[in-house]
Amino acid sequence: MYRVDSMKAEEFINHEEIMETLEYAEKNKDNLELVDQIIEKAKLRKGLSHREASVLLVCSAPEKEQEIFALAEQIKKDFYGNRIVMFAPLYLSNYCVNGCVYCPYHAKNKHIPRKKLTQEEIRKEVIALQDMGHKRLAIETGEDPVNCPIDYVLESIKTIYSIKHKNGAIRRVNVNIAATTVENYRKLKEAGIGTYILFQETYHKESYEKLHPTGPKHNYAYHTEAMDRAMEGGIDDVGLGVLFGLELYRYEFAGLLMHAEHLEAVHGVGPHTISVPRIRRADDIDPDDFDNGIDDDTFAKLVACIRIAVPYTGMIVSTRESQKCRERVLHLGISQISGGSRTSVGGYVEPEPEEESSAQFDVSDNRTLDEVVNWLMKMDYIPSFCTACYREGRTGDRFMSLCKSGQIQNCCHPNALLTLKEYLQDYASEDTKNVGNALIEREIDNIPKEKVREIVKKNLKEIEQGARDFRF
Ligand code: SF4
Ligand code: SF4
Repeated sequence: MYRVDSMKAEEFINHEEIMETLEYAEKNKDNLELVDQIIEKAKLRKGLSHREASVLLVCSAPEKEQEIFALAEQIKKDFYGNRIVMFAPLYLSNYCVNGCVYCPYHAKNKHIPRKKLTQEEIRKEVIALQDMGHKRLAIETGEDPVNCPIDYVLESIKTIYSIKHKNGAIRRVNVNIAATTVENYRKLKEAGIGTYILFQETYHKESYEKLHPTGPKHNYAYHTEAMDRAMEGGIDDVGLGVLFGLELYRYEFAGLLMHAEHLEAVHGVGPHTISVPRIRRADDIDPDDFDNGIDDDTFAKLVACIRIAVPYTGMIVSTRESQKCRERVLHLGISQISGGSRTSVGGYVEPEPEEESSAQFDVSDNRTLDEVVNWLMKMDYIPSFCTACYREGRTGDRFMSLCKSGQIQNCCHPNALLTLKEYLQDYASEDTKNVGNALIEREIDNIPKEKVREIVKKNLKEIEQGARDFRF
C-alpha cells in the first residue's frame, strides 16, 4: 500500500503507485485541459505532485512542451538567478565489496587498479584542488568496511578541512558514501559535512536487485531508507539522484519525486539537491548494454520537469555530460556543476594513462576549471564558489524557509560576486579575470538593497587588497 509518510521503502516508493502514475500520465498526456491546469499550478512555484509532474513529462504537444521549457527557465531564473555553484568530486578510495553491474569498481573487476589515498596523498589532492580555485568538494568512496571504514572517511574530512594552502580552503565537504547506520551519519554530521549524497541508482526494486546482485547494496530497503537514517542522525541536507539509463526514465522520475515527497512529509524538509547522472562508458562498462538510455531531448525535458516539480531543490549536473548538453540544461534548471573534474583516485595530482585508468566513468567535459568559469561568464552566468549557508547554520528547514520566502536570494547573489572575485584574484587566467571583473561590475547594480550593495563594494575592494572569506 502507498503511504507517503511510511518508514518502509516499499510503501513510500510503492511500485503499484508508480505503475498507476505512469498509466494516469499516459492516459492524460493529450488531455490539454488537464495539462493547462497543471502548468497553471506549477506557475505558483510551489511544486507539483509526482502524478501531475508525470503528466507533463509525457505530454508531447509541441506548444505545451514549449510552455514547460519556458516555465522551467523562468523558475530557474526566479530561484537561482544567473548563478551556478561550482564543485569538484574527490575520489578517496575505489575498493568496493558490491557487485553493481554498471560501475567498474564492482568487486569482481580484478584488473582495475585499486587505490586508497593516504592522508598525505589527500593533502596533495586537496592542494591541487585549492590551486584550481575550488572551495566545495564532494568526496566519493566505494563501499568496503575493511579498506575504507567510517573512521577513515572521518579522518579524511578532518584532513581536508585543515589544509590552508596560500589563499585556498575547502569550505564545504559533501559526502557521497554508501548507505550506513544512524550512528555513522551522526559522526559525519559531527565532522561538519555539508550535504550527504546517495544515489538511488534505480527506484525499481526488481531491477535494483538484479543490478546489485551481491554485497550489502543488494538490500533495496536498507539503501532506499538511508536518507531517513541520515536525517535521524542529524544530517538535514541530503542529495538524491538516479542513474538514468538503468530503468525506464518515467518510472525513475516518479520514484524520485515520491522520495522527495516522503522526506518532506516525514522530516519537514525535501532534498537539498537532485543529481541527474546518465550512464557512461568506463573500464569494463559499456552503456550500450543497458536498454533504457535517454537521448539529449528527453534529458532536457526531464531536467525541466524536475525544475518545475521541486523548485526549491538544487539540481546538479556533472562532467559526465558534454559541454553542449550542459549548456542546454543550465538554462532549464541546473544550479550546480562540477568543473575540471577527475574521476579516478588520486587523479588531480597524477592524471593516469588511459590503459591504467581507475576512473569510475569517462568524463565528457574535459575542460579546466578556468575554461568552465570563463565559458559560464561569457554566457552571462555567475560562477559561484559560495559555501555560506551551512557555515552560517542555514541548513535543513531553516534553509528551506529562507528559500521558499525568496529571501535566500539576498545572500546568494552578493556571495556569488564575492567568491567569484576571490577566484579571479587568486586563480584565474588573464582573460577570465577581465571577463569576470566586467561581469561583477555589471552585477553589482542588480543588488536590490543599497546597504548590501555598499557592503559588497567595500568587500570587493578589500579582496583586492588581500582579505578573504566575506559572506552574507
Ligand atoms: S556504484 Fe558504488 S557501490 Fe557500486 S560498485 Fe561502484 S563504487 Fe561500489
Ligand atoms: S548563500 Fe547559501 S544557497 Fe546561496 S549559494 Fe551560498 S550556500 Fe548556496
